[in-house]
Amino acid sequence: MEKIRVGVVGATGMVGQNYVRLLGSHPWFRVTHVSASPRSSGKTYAEAVAGRWVMDEPIPTTVANLVVADAQDVQAAAGACDFVFSALGMAKPAVRQLEEACAGAGLPVISNNSAHRMTDDVPMLIPEVNPDHTSIIPFQQERRGWEGGFIAVKPNCSLQSYLPPIYALMQSGYEVESIIVTTLQAVSGAGHPGVSSMDVIDNVVPFIPGEEEKTEQEPLKILGSLQEGRIVPSPSPTVSAHCTRVPVIDGHTACVSLTFAGQIPSLDQIRTAWRGFLGAPQELRLPTAPRPPLVYREEPDRPQPRKDRNTASGMAISVGRLRPCPVMDIRFVALSHNTVRGAAGGAILSAELLRAQGFLGR
Ligand code: NAP
Repeated sequence: MEKIRVGVVGATGMVGQNYVRLLGSHPWFRVTHVSASPRSSGKTYAEAVAGRWVMDEPIPTTVANLVVADAQDVQAAAGACDFVFSALGMAKPAVRQLEEACAGAGLPVISNNSAHRMTDDVPMLIPEVNPDHTSIIPFQQERRGWEGGFIAVKPNCSLQSYLPPIYALMQSGYEVESIIVTTLQAVSGAGHPGVSSMDVIDNVVPFIPGEEEKTEQEPLKILGSLQEGRIVPSPSPTVSAHCTRVPVIDGHTACVSLTFAGQIPSLDQIRTAWRGFLGAPQELRLPTAPRPPLVYREEPDRPQPRKDRNTASGMAISVGRLRPCPVMDIRFVALSHNTVRGAAGGAILSAELLRAQGFLGR
């Protein structure tokens, strides 16, 4: 199969670098276009990220010499690639405008930014949880008069660790009523250079602007239903979130307690549900689908960011410490790699799903 040409908009940032790294050897996609701010445009990619390339591997040779375009130059993107990943670190209205301009120019956009997450005809995808939400795309295109272009988004990285294990329980027939979650979020989640070392070393910062609202609201859209060309959020479960920043480089941890609405499964039934869980990416054998998507750790002190974030190349979610909760019904700890599964890797998996469903590719 001829590889599909991909653009990375915001290619020089923390998430953009992960796209460039992960797409370097992708079997379906090849990077043919990179763009960023006027600070970077006109330079080769290698020049633009000199001194701030934070990946462990070198820059893929196929990208190092691409000249970085100005992200505002939508026509350049439309001429150079078949779809784009958007990883822009700009104010929401500006991102919304730019992503809509790309879609209007015929480019499908898969975005990490929050600008369109709550737009009711834009699918917010975790491919194992709501692959059917892509069927909203024709309604989105018709409503806006877009031919070929559309927007699909990734949810916030904070919920990627805990929502799939909870969804696996729901899918096994155990209805979840309410959730209390405390996230311990890595510094890479704030981009590069991100949080000041003086603020975060030897410290826990108990506030990340806007994060708790996203962590509480986005799951309801992901679990929502499609009605008359719009996604209607699910009325439940209720989520209460504390989001904190901790001195970890990569890997967001979530400590979760929850109550069930009806039957309370045994701990064995929960572990069985997690171990047996498979979603559309596994069934479709998508190239970067982790198999299994949820990895249950029996050790009493796992999951841990340093030891578990790279499970299945950063695409699997590690779960552990399942036990009864004296206040709610059960509690557990979940972990996912925030810039891989929670950002670039998760979006690449979404693109693979969209390709398999016929939404991407010439
Ligand atoms: P980042 O490291 O700050 O990178 C921001 C990118 O946007 C850079 O490529 C930057 O280009 C570009 N940019 C900034 N201002 C611009 C402008 N005015 N015009 C055009 N391009 C501009 O941020 P990040 O962590 O990669 O995050 C990118 C997006 O993904 C954000 O919306 C973030 O909320 C979201 N996200 C991040 C994570 C994570 O774990 N980091 C997870 C999920 C979602 P220059 O290099 O030229 O300045």
